[in-house]
Amino acid sequence: MPLLQVKDLALGYDGQAIVEGVNFEVHAGDYLFIVGENGSGKTTLMKTLLHLQPPLSGRITPGDGLKDNEIGYLPQQTQIQKDFPASVDEIVLSGCQGRLGLRPFYRSEEKALAKENMRRMGIEHLGKKCFRQLSGGQKQRVLLARALCATKKILLLDEPVSGLDPKGASEMYDLIDDLQKSGIAVIMISHDIPAALRYGTHILHIGEHLFSGTKEEYLNSEEGKLFLQMQKGGDNA
Ligand code: ADP
Repeated sequence: MPLLQVKDLALGYDGQAIVEGVNFEVHAGDYLFIVGENGSGKTTLMKTLLHLQPPLSGRITPGDGLKDNEIGYLPQQTQIQKDFPASVDEIVLSGCQGRLGLRPFYRSEEKALAKENMRRMGIEHLGKKCFRQLSGGQKQRVLLARALCATKKILLLDEPVSGLDPKGASEMYDLIDDLQKSGIAVIMISHDIPAALRYGTHILHIGEHLFSGTKEEYLNSEEGKLFLQMQKGGDNA
């Protein structure tokens, strides 16, 4: 049974569709890359999957016991978020907010979960540091630990390596790869086509032409061939 089943989804704003006919499934352990040109609707799809905005039509059905608030999300970094004046401990723990309900305080098991995820991300020694003082790579590890507090099943990552140097990006990809290998489904918005082809198991290409399928199917599809050619052209420009 899929963790997420997306059927005939239309996305957009004020009744105006940006993308229509989006269909895909995500199963435990899948690594789905969402690719497409700028402005094609990738972030809008992410917001819709997180129930931050309603679809214009179609259905998103969670399965395999997944609850709506059980999706771990790592947002694209804005300057305000980068300068956020909170400690690492506070930011990671805030990933447990979905478990609070009406309770105004965190329980010891939530604090233990935050510590465990900080250990998993190799940042347990940074707990008392202020988030804005960290390096770009450390910040992303903090946000990944936070996202892991919200889920054991599925992560949504919006451009998680953007702004990182090659070493930081490679470390981040390795961490995410380990999480996927441990059985967590990963959905990642990315412009990094080499990474999509290296790590991804599935590709969703949105834009004028839609494609959803395995990486191998994408490489053999007209959409895939065209997009990869355009990317190469862009790299050489
Ligand atoms: P991508 O993430 O692929 O770059 P987006 O999902 O951010 O694309 O945007 C898709 C389209 O939706 C763009 O044309 C953008 O201008 C438009 N858009 C994004 N956010 C809003 C909004 N809040 N209201 C109206 N239109 C928006």
